[in-house]
Amino acid sequence: MERSTTDEPVRGLPPEAAVEGVAVSPGIAVGPAFVFGDILTEVETRTIRPDEVEGELARFRAAVELVKDELARDVERISEQLGQDHADVFLVHSMILEDRSAITEIEGHVRTGLVNAEAAVAEVMKRVSAVLAASGDSYLRDRAFDITDIGKRVIERLLGVWSHCPLVQPMVVVATELRASDTVTMDRGRILGFVTEVGGKESHAAILARSLGVPAIVGVPGIVDRVVTGDVLIVDGDDGCVVLHPSEAALDRYGLKREEDEREWADLSSLRDLPTETADGVKVELMCNVGSVDDAAEAAGMNAAGVGLFRTEMVFMASRHFLDEEEQYSTYRSVVEAMPGRPVVIRTLDIGGDKFVGPENPYRERNPNLGYRSIRVLLERPDIFLTQMRAILRAGAHGDARILWPMICTLGELRAAKERLGEAKDALRKEGVPFREDTPAGVMIEIPSAALLAERLAAECDFLSIGTNDLIQYTLAVDRGSSLVDHLYRPHDPAVIALIARTVEGARAEGKPVALCGEMGGNPAYVPLVLGLGLEEISVSPARFLLAKKAIRETDLAKARELTSRALAAGTAEEVEVIFDLERS
Ligand code: PEP
Ligand code: MG
Repeated sequence: MERSTTDEPVRGLPPEAAVEGVAVSPGIAVGPAFVFGDILTEVETRTIRPDEVEGELARFRAAVELVKDELARDVERISEQLGQDHADVFLVHSMILEDRSAITEIEGHVRTGLVNAEAAVAEVMKRVSAVLAASGDSYLRDRAFDITDIGKRVIERLLGVWSHCPLVQPMVVVATELRASDTVTMDRGRILGFVTEVGGKESHAAILARSLGVPAIVGVPGIVDRVVTGDVLIVDGDDGCVVLHPSEAALDRYGLKREEDEREWADLSSLRDLPTETADGVKVELMCNVGSVDDAAEAAGMNAAGVGLFRTEMVFMASRHFLDEEEQYSTYRSVVEAMPGRPVVIRTLDIGGDKFVGPENPYRERNPNLGYRSIRVLLERPDIFLTQMRAILRAGAHGDARILWPMICTLGELRAAKERLGEAKDALRKEGVPFREDTPAGVMIEIPSAALLAERLAAECDFLSIGTNDLIQYTLAVDRGSSLVDHLYRPHDPAVIALIARTVEGARAEGKPVALCGEMGGNPAYVPLVLGLGLEEISVSPARFLLAKKAIRETDLAKARELTSRALAAGTAEEVEVIFDLERS
């Protein structure tokens, strides 16, 4: 939506305009945009001299050879790790690079068009992919993606970049959509904020923005076409507003707002050493969700009670390969050592869905969130699963490492996972490798079936951890990454809170601990509801830690319990909003 602004335009620039989206991470950012995206359309065309042609062709051939080598390694690695079927996409990519006609056409373009190699690749790949994309045949349409992918990869090698997000200075990243694999390779220290056309509150870009403490706005249609790299933007992550071509007056206004935010943050940091307890004195274990060793160090610096969720797939994605046992062991050990005496819950790989190691969606599933994901992959790939559990068990020799299994849907899956855990321990025992025998192992409750079976699952594992990000998505059939249905993604829907309540009761009945590690727990507006539901362990992203702590300290638990029992009897999300006064927040 467009907002009108009254400020005077800056001379020589298009007039100021403000556009609205969904605010998913708070704060104010002011800085130049980096439009992340289609390297094929962005590549710079340079005219070359005839005597530069051979040099340009040599660069092109070297880039092709580099990509071929990488593809051969990918084929080998992925077929070994995930099976030959999954490596097929790389084989198709290799075949495209073996196709003489495409190569000849690109070389011809450099020779006769006298253009740089990047531009020639972009031109030819765009043309071929457009022809395929227009085809009525879905197989050929899929090949259009392959051509585009491979064209991008060759251009990246020509430009000498790994991922096309060269943030040369602190910048606001603007994109159509940002997936986990896009963001892991960015230079995080230079991300001022995110603005995307597509994405939901719990999309990974949103979670990353919150963990970096930078503002993010999703659901801003057409932003990619309205901004060019270098344009100055104001991103207001509190209000969900992006100001394009800001006037001096707007810059001043937001500058003041930012100073105010900074003061508020400074006030929050005074909470660091205060106890995490409700206004009526009930202690809450407030932990952090982490995706790296650095995050864990930050969590320790804020006195977090532990790591309630270590998303290990983030480490794999950042390093762009499947880590072997030693690499994993050393990472998990570092995280455990950053949290001496405190629990570190290490989740086994949650790949698939919206998170991939390697190419985006290699399985080409139509509905990856309901597909080959997470524990389903791990149970079929005992080699990956056993390696990871061995590494966690070994890290347990250095601190309180715990294992968490994601996306458990049935009791059968839990039993199968436990069997594998037993095998991992047997093997370590036989090899005489030190590890912690009684490493606790728990289950994530993020699928309604698991919430319904909470008591039975709790009876057979050591703890439960509620992942509301997925639980909400699966309960309400609302894609957590879609801005189109974002308004329907409501953590306070009576169906969601009933499933959380059932999970807490199930754990209690079995005398097992239960935590909540979805983003709902870190949202101050939901803290009274989460506490009222009986949760005493909450794990939140580091950027929300102090805000959540403040909300806990302001909550009167007795009152929150009373409101929650009314909310549990409510029929609609709107009724719950009235009970908890959520409309104002
Ligand atoms: C969740 O689903 O709530 C969760 C914590 O896991 P992730 O966000 O990594 O899917
Ligand atoms: Mg999840």
